[in-house]
Amino acid sequence: MDKNLTMDKLVNLCKSRGFVFQGSEIYGGFANTWDFGPVGVELKNNIKKAWWKKFVQEDPSAYGVDAAILMNPRVWEASGHVASFSDPQLDCKSCKYRFRADNLIEEKFKDVDVERMSTKEMEDFINEHKVKCPHCGNFNWTPVRQFKLMFETSRGTVEGEKDVVYLRPETCQGEYVNFLNVQRTMRAKVPFAIAQIGKSFRNEITPGNFLFRTVEFEQMELQMFCHPNESMDIYKNYKERAMKFVEDLGLTAENLRFHDHEKLAHYAKAACDIQYNFPIGWQELNGIHHRGNWDLSRHSEFSGKNMDYLDPYTNEKYTPNVIEYSIGADRLTLAIMSEAYEEEKLENGETRVVMHFKPFLAPFKVAILPLQKNLSEKAKDVYRLLSKEFMCDYDEAGSIGKRYRRQDEIGTPFCVTIDFDTLEDNTVTIRDRDSMAQIRLPISELVPYIEKAIKF
Ligand code: ATP
Repeated sequence: MDKNLTMDKLVNLCKSRGFVFQGSEIYGGFANTWDFGPVGVELKNNIKKAWWKKFVQEDPSAYGVDAAILMNPRVWEASGHVASFSDPQLDCKSCKYRFRADNLIEEKFKDVDVERMSTKEMEDFINEHKVKCPHCGNFNWTPVRQFKLMFETSRGTVEGEKDVVYLRPETCQGEYVNFLNVQRTMRAKVPFAIAQIGKSFRNEITPGNFLFRTVEFEQMELQMFCHPNESMDIYKNYKERAMKFVEDLGLTAENLRFHDHEKLAHYAKAACDIQYNFPIGWQELNGIHHRGNWDLSRHSEFSGKNMDYLDPYTNEKYTPNVIEYSIGADRLTLAIMSEAYEEEKLENGETRVVMHFKPFLAPFKVAILPLQKNLSEKAKDVYRLLSKEFMCDYDEAGSIGKRYRRQDEIGTPFCVTIDFDTLEDNTVTIRDRDSMAQIRLPISELVPYIEKAIKF
């Protein structure tokens, strides 16, 4: 990661180069919503594809699902969200800024165990210690209230006969409720995993920092169902696999670390995050949790369906434990963009901005650039050939130097230039993004050359 990188620089690059736009921008935006543009959607899709490949396609014990976002509201009672998925919130009456009471205390008093405090205890603590507003410096707080994080909507068209339904705040419940279906239809033997990628929604109190914390985001989640005796080994194994995955995507070891949780939910046996050193500092990138048999037991209790597993070899009947691995696709996209960014000083004194994405993640694998407009017919032939295999960009406007810079900024690993020699001998120049070295290749060799470079 370039030490000059700030979140503002990244947001501006994203906006000017088609990675990410402000949500509903022509209406003045809509706070903490973002739209992925033509470049960004390719990057995020490639990240999701890489995750699916590693954790579903290459793992014979993993199965994918795509569950409905709207679920029976009883699901959220069983999961505990209806009763307790809320954060303690308070507002500054002077500047109207809103904060999470636990964060406010934690930031000033590192040794205080906020997780064990009730709402009233947090309020008393803030008053006793005269904790001031970090924004305006005043001490003028509303009472601390519990702020519900689930978005509610309703189903039913007749006034007065509406049922509350929730936009899911996590995807994993879609995996738990399909445990029996997947096990039966795929003849799956424990240990096996159910994975999915999908949207989640949280009415966060303090969203912000661009894609880091938004109210609508995508999660890539996987639940591994296993025997209690092997659960701790599987937990450790997922910690390693999760770390290796983000390193394979280009995040460097110096910007990654494990953070083991000391305070655990009452049902949990172990929990850890992988943290990444974002431009805003070290923050959670993903979570790996040993959830005991809490989830399947609760769903058995609330649905009345027995979710025990009968081991066909030992005849042992038990409720499987769950190891959960969960990572935000948008948060990971932010980490990957941060890591890839470089302001590189060139020999001629100029600076170029280049996104060093791993080639398999790059939004476009190759850009086709005719040196002059009257070469566009041949260049379009090359585009037609390459676009059957890869996402390609085509650009014939402006100087070649400027066109290279634009491709560097969106991280295109290869630029293919069509010149007058191409018409004679069917060869092109191919330029490497990182080294800027250029070689000459026959058009017929382009597909295997690029294919080899983008393998994951
Ligand atoms: P945090 O402590 O940052 O709120 P969390 O512990 O609530 O996160 P989980 O519920 O474990 O997060 O969700 C798993 C992953 O989903 C997170 O590690 C993160 O990558 C992503 N995620 C969670 N909330 C958001 C959000 N509001 N915006 C973007 N990504 C999110």
